[in-house]
Amino acid sequence: MTLPPVTRFAPSPTGYLHLGHVVSALHARKTAGPSGRFLVRIEDIDTTRCTPALTEALREDLQWLGLWPVEPVLQQSRHMGAYASVLDHLRQRGLLYPCFCTRSDIAAAASGQRAPDGSALYPGTCRTRALNTGALESGRAPTWRLDMQRALNEIHGVPSWYEAGHGRIAGRADEFGDIVLGRRDTGMSYHLCVTHDDALQGVTCITRGQDLYAATSIHRVIQTLMKWPEPEYRHHALILDESGKKLSKRDGAEGVRALRAMGWPAENVLTHPLVVQALADS
Ligand code: GLU
Repeated sequence: MTLPPVTRFAPSPTGYLHLGHVVSALHARKTAGPSGRFLVRIEDIDTTRCTPALTEALREDLQWLGLWPVEPVLQQSRHMGAYASVLDHLRQRGLLYPCFCTRSDIAAAASGQRAPDGSALYPGTCRTRALNTGALESGRAPTWRLDMQRALNEIHGVPSWYEAGHGRIAGRADEFGDIVLGRRDTGMSYHLCVTHDDALQGVTCITRGQDLYAATSIHRVIQTLMKWPEPEYRHHALILDESGKKLSKRDGAEGVRALRAMGWPAENVLTHPLVVQALADS
């Protein structure tokens, strides 16, 4: 017997709701279907960029669109202790090490090499730096990195994932180097919080934009290390702006607020040509 799917829409309130968000939310709701559960989760661990006012605006716009679920909404900034426990646990297993490199140290050490998500490839400078004594004395907080080789040895290889409509996809975690799981500024990382909450909330199918496809390799490593269940993934097409970039932090013609202000009814926003096109492309 297959259980009804549990899906989620997980926006970060760094700006107002735009049509790209609407596409993601509609995907999640459609995948849940009439018998499944559709959840909304506010991913606001970066409290310098995600303000309470933006969170409130997001809720308001989603309610107006009929996309705010009846189920409770998890707000990540209220659960920092839970994420800290996961970091502690991984630290105790010897899988994390402190890194004191600055952004320019990393860029210099990577010398142009990139991870599959486009970020600078960190060559592990601090993994081998004996106890980081000098840096510890400098009083600067470290970032905490996952010792990727050690992690992959522990889980016996690079985990794959199941992409709906495409079958099993080979993971590329071994090409990422030692990724950051505890950021210096927020203490956590997106990768850690998102996998923790998907497991906690029993999400069975993760629908999200193509821009997060590469990150799935990392998420599968964390899930396997933590013995969290393996969800299915469904990465959808994005709405791109005129320069081919993903919409973000915009409130122009693609901003839900702007369309509301112009008198658009919710139904027309949900069936905006850009939304319909992105849904058809996925
Ligand atoms: N919070 C992330 C974002 O807004 C999405 C996380 C996810 O769907 O995995 O880009």
